[in-house]
Amino acid sequence: MGSNPTLSARSFREKSTVAFRPPLLRPSAFTSELRTVNTVAMAHAHKIDRVQKVNLKEIDTDPPKGMTKEEALAETQKLASEMEELLDLLFFAGQHSLLLVLQGMDTSGKDGTIRHFLNYTHAQSCRVASFKVPTAHELAHDFLWRIHQQAPGKGEIAVFNRSHYEDVLVVRVHELVPKDVWHGRYAQINTFESLLTASNTIVLKFFLHISKKEQEERLLDREKEVEKAWKLSVGDWKEREQWSRYQEAYEDAIGKCASAEAPWHVVPADHKWYRNLAVTEAIVHALRPYKKTWLKDLTEVGEKAKAELSAFRSGKP
Ligand code: ADP
Repeated sequence: MGSNPTLSARSFREKSTVAFRPPLLRPSAFTSELRTVNTVAMAHAHKIDRVQKVNLKEIDTDPPKGMTKEEALAETQKLASEMEELLDLLFFAGQHSLLLVLQGMDTSGKDGTIRHFLNYTHAQSCRVASFKVPTAHELAHDFLWRIHQQAPGKGEIAVFNRSHYEDVLVVRVHELVPKDVWHGRYAQINTFESLLTASNTIVLKFFLHISKKEQEERLLDREKEVEKAWKLSVGDWKEREQWSRYQEAYEDAIGKCASAEAPWHVVPADHKWYRNLAVTEAIVHALRPYKKTWLKDLTEVGEKAKAELSAFRSGKP
């Protein structure tokens, strides 16, 4: 067995079409105010990893006081380098899958979060799936049918832009199915996510938490700025009228479908730079514990390849 797993992983990587990544950068300990509101306190996002009552009003949408944009950007950069390395290892080791579920009110920044994340992964390993109003064909099946088809395979990363949670959010708010139907879905979602995690999928769910005021500003910006006008939709203003009902639906979805294996992260998202920091950090925290195993497996692959090569060179079969 090789004594330097990092080098083995590196040589494995260099054989691939993906450029070698810079050395791992460790994030410095950042001491922000730790806030605990029925949540497990993390530095930046609020991790919810067990069934509980959630009150979104108690969770800030703003960064902690004293945190500057410059600090956050520097911290994000360090964490993102580590995330890039971990995502590569996940891909090359091919043992686990990563599923990121992004939910949030209109304008909460789902697209921007995805854009940021995609800077640190590559097309080979990552796919984004957007879930819109279901087609007639999709509606002819159970609500998880279209979702399961997009679940990531081993070594793959899938990012869901909206998800199966719409079936307990928009569907509930607009009463698209009777209450007993959408209510039964919390348990169905939990069973579905248990199936995914039991099959080595690392499931991380993010609620991008913005204030009602911030949403108004973002919607008005779309009218002011020519480049953003294509995003204008009267539907967004209509949905905004249902703000409280959506918040309640989110509180239930988050509180009833949270587990250690498939936790939610409530992300203060009024500032994009803080949102990116919180999401990046949560991903790094979730992937770090797997690093040793992935490196070990890649080392074994490398050692096996080396043994085959030296047998070939020495003329032995
Ligand atoms: P986005 O707002 O995510 O950028 P769209 O403007 O196309 O994208 O919105 C997609 C719409 O599809 C949203 O209004 C969302 O609520 C809706 N949608 C997604 N899933 C479902 C579902 N299962 N049932 C009804 N509507 C859904």
